[in-house]
Amino acid sequence: MAEPAAPKPAGGRANTRKELPEHFKAYKHVWVFVEQERGHVHPVSWELLGAGRQLADKLGVELAAVVLGPPGEGTLAAAAEAQCYGADLSYVVADPLLADYRNEPYTKAMTDLVNTYKPEILLLGATTLGRDLAGAVATTLLTGLTADCTALDVDDDKSLAATRPTFGGSLLCTIYTLNYRPQMATVRPRVMAMPERVEKPATRIIEHPLDMKEEDVVTKVLSFLPDREQAKSNLPYADVVVAGGLGLGSAENFQLVRQLASAVGAEYGCSRPLVQKGWLTADRQIGQTGKTIRPRLYIAAGISGAIQHRVGVEGADLIVAINTDKNAPIFDFAHVGIVTDAIRFLPALTEAFRRRLSPHTRDRIAS
Ligand code: FAD
Repeated sequence: MAEPAAPKPAGGRANTRKELPEHFKAYKHVWVFVEQERGHVHPVSWELLGAGRQLADKLGVELAAVVLGPPGEGTLAAAAEAQCYGADLSYVVADPLLADYRNEPYTKAMTDLVNTYKPEILLLGATTLGRDLAGAVATTLLTGLTADCTALDVDDDKSLAATRPTFGGSLLCTIYTLNYRPQMATVRPRVMAMPERVEKPATRIIEHPLDMKEEDVVTKVLSFLPDREQAKSNLPYADVVVAGGLGLGSAENFQLVRQLASAVGAEYGCSRPLVQKGWLTADRQIGQTGKTIRPRLYIAAGISGAIQHRVGVEGADLIVAINTDKNAPIFDFAHVGIVTDAIRFLPALTEAFRRRLSPHTRDRIAS
């Protein structure tokens, strides 16, 4: 499916700058932070390299990946892999202090790199780690940061135009960092499309030291406990997602969504009020303040389709909405609309899938 066109906010830029100040001219190139933890690279890093490539091409500059981690193969492999996703070169800071994410050494590594090599744009994933790092880096560098962007572009004077929802998601605004460098932005997983991976040998990897000692770091990692609930929920990267909203009427009725999800090997999610009511945990929420999803199939039952929900699902290839109200806003963007009672319809749909899908097919959908 084609990328949904990012609507441009109405009105022009309030603060127009005719000429780039002299001290900005040293800042060139687009950088993307490649987030890796315990040898696992977060896919949002590759999505951002795709977006970064487009910005770099428009600006006529290079695209660089930044990889921070412990010395060893994993960190270098991430730096090399970044070049298969479009980076022209990779900056690496490999140091034992960067083995587990801690704000201080990561901020120092990133700010040292920025101060040395001076990128004009720095993009990070709006993940838990990326958000923590981006705020600290922007504050240390005294520059601007636009969080949770939904679109990135370059303006006529080559400024980064970072668009994000505002006023509770009812409006989009485009934010510029005109008077500071680098221009920083975070983007949530699945907002940008995954670029195609093209196998190629890594050519330019620039290593930079971390001039820091363990005694300089206040935070200590005592042990690592994986989050079991998070490990189970993989909403942003699921191929099929079934979700329920307030129209289901009760927490007990949500089992109808779970049953359908299980029958088709899908992930399940919900609208925000269900989290607010305590029916589901926050990692299941889909939308502006929840997860952004890009499945091949999204089935929404008893969800009205408020703008804050819509922005999290409109990257889905096929949206099927089940709602009793034929005027519900979700029918404005669903590809298939079913006007009926979800409480009665969901069990029938589950039963139909169970009859038609073999366990093998279900596993294939889920994998
Ligand atoms: P409702 O709007 O109450 O809709 C329920 C729907 O179910 C109705 O359309 C009704 O016709 C239908 N229905 C009723 N009975 C049945 C039945 N038996 N069978 C089928 N259909 C039935 N919301 C999110 O989802 N995600 C977010 O990330 C998010 N972030 C927000 C951030 C901010 C700052 C704000 C202000 C709001 C946010 N919201 C978010 C809330 C959002 O505005 C809506 O209130 C919310 O999405 C509505 O949830 P809903 O569709 O489940 O409920």
